[in-house]
Amino acid sequence: LSNRIDRALKNIKGEGSISEINVASTVKEIRRALLEADVNFKVAKEITNEIREQALGQNILIDVKPGQLFTKIVSDKLTELMGSEMVPFTPTGNPATVLIAGLQGSGKTTFTGKLGLRLKKQGKQVLLVAADVYRPAAIDQLETLGEQTGVEVYTERENKNPVSIAENAVKYAKENGKSIVVVDTAGRLAIDEQMMDEIEAVKKAINPSETLFVVDSMTGQDAVNTAKTFNDRLDFDGVVLTKLDGDTRGGAALSIRRVVEKPIKFISTGEKLENTLDEFYPERMAQRILGMGDVVSLVERAQEAFDEEEARRLNKKLRKNQFDFNDLLSQIQHIKKMGDLKDLIGMVPGLNKMVKDQEIDSDAFKPVEAIIQSMTPYEKANPDSLDQSRKKRLATGSGTSVQQVNNLIKQFEEMRKMMRKVNKMSGIPGMGKKGG
Ligand code: GDP
Ligand code: MG
Repeated sequence: LSNRIDRALKNIKGEGSISEINVASTVKEIRRALLEADVNFKVAKEITNEIREQALGQNILIDVKPGQLFTKIVSDKLTELMGSEMVPFTPTGNPATVLIAGLQGSGKTTFTGKLGLRLKKQGKQVLLVAADVYRPAAIDQLETLGEQTGVEVYTERENKNPVSIAENAVKYAKENGKSIVVVDTAGRLAIDEQMMDEIEAVKKAINPSETLFVVDSMTGQDAVNTAKTFNDRLDFDGVVLTKLDGDTRGGAALSIRRVVEKPIKFISTGEKLENTLDEFYPERMAQRILGMGDVVSLVERAQEAFDEEEARRLNKKLRKNQFDFNDLLSQIQHIKKMGDLKDLIGMVPGLNKMVKDQEIDSDAFKPVEAIIQSMTPYEKANPDSLDQSRKKRLATGSGTSVQQVNNLIKQFEEMRKMMRKVNKMSGIPGMGKKGG
């Protein structure tokens, strides 16, 4: 998607004004890009019509290049489409009850485990409930997640009735001072009446304060139909988009919000438990879709994972466009500690180009690190100081080639450029705030 939109925007960048003709061709490209990203056909058509009208209605200000203006219109549009505001997850009640629904394999059980960990970290007394009565392995899976996260899991292996399991679990939670109960349910491979009846019955029985619908964002167009069917029956409160790792297309996020008119509350980006669950910020998602990398989420994750001091320093540097080799090196080192490398690399603009796809493991950055470590403090802080003789020295010192050094510098420059772009466009909302 991002490449397409980039290309589409290039069409009109640098031109003097937004004319009927360049808008038409740009809008056409954007529509094609949205379709390619699995945005529902009707939705794509509606959005692009709205974008066209808005673009044509704009008076060009003297300082604003039409390309920038158009980028802003598209980004605002995508943001609006995904709901504009972040809708927080704030279940109420004593205990608060949360029901998890979705197809088999969508990521319900994994999400339940991640949510348990998140709530525990917030100081809540959490109880996870295994109400998938069809697959004993599903109960084991949730129990394992509970063990890994130190969160209690409620099971009744002999009971084949999810309604009574859920009711008993809530009762157990009340008696044992739990503040929140999360019920993981069974799914089917496809929509199925029995499954729908069952989950509806569980919902009726425990009257959850939040029902979350979990959907695999890699299922593309199908995700929208599934969401619609579940919403018609359950009238759920929010959506969890899973498997938004690496290059997964964001189309599902766009169309689901538009079709079911329910907020997306969480995005899940990996199989690991730590640092792979984020709240959903429409503006950041729009920027991710526009191909600028999700620097903001990255910085927030960084704040969670390491000392705040370091994150503040990085924030400030990003704001002032003073990002240098010291920062690159510490980012690489942090990233290595932070979780699934592949997912994280996808979030930093330009970083993915520094390593080959098949090489993504903790050794992938070794040459890059070696080069930076061969730099003098002056060189690290002054990326522009690297002339030919310094480059040669770095190559020798790090056991790499001048070509590898040049490549690193080139990618580093691109990163700086992209970060400036993100910085300028977004004003980096949420940065500087603690946590996420
Ligand atoms: P359920 O049947 O809905 O409970 O789905 P599971 O939680 O068992 O997940 C199905 C598969 O998807 C498992 O192999 C999970 O490890 C994987 N999975 C779940 N969430 C994510 C995610 O966000 N990213 C990736 N890459 N895999 C995920
Ligand atoms: Mg499951």
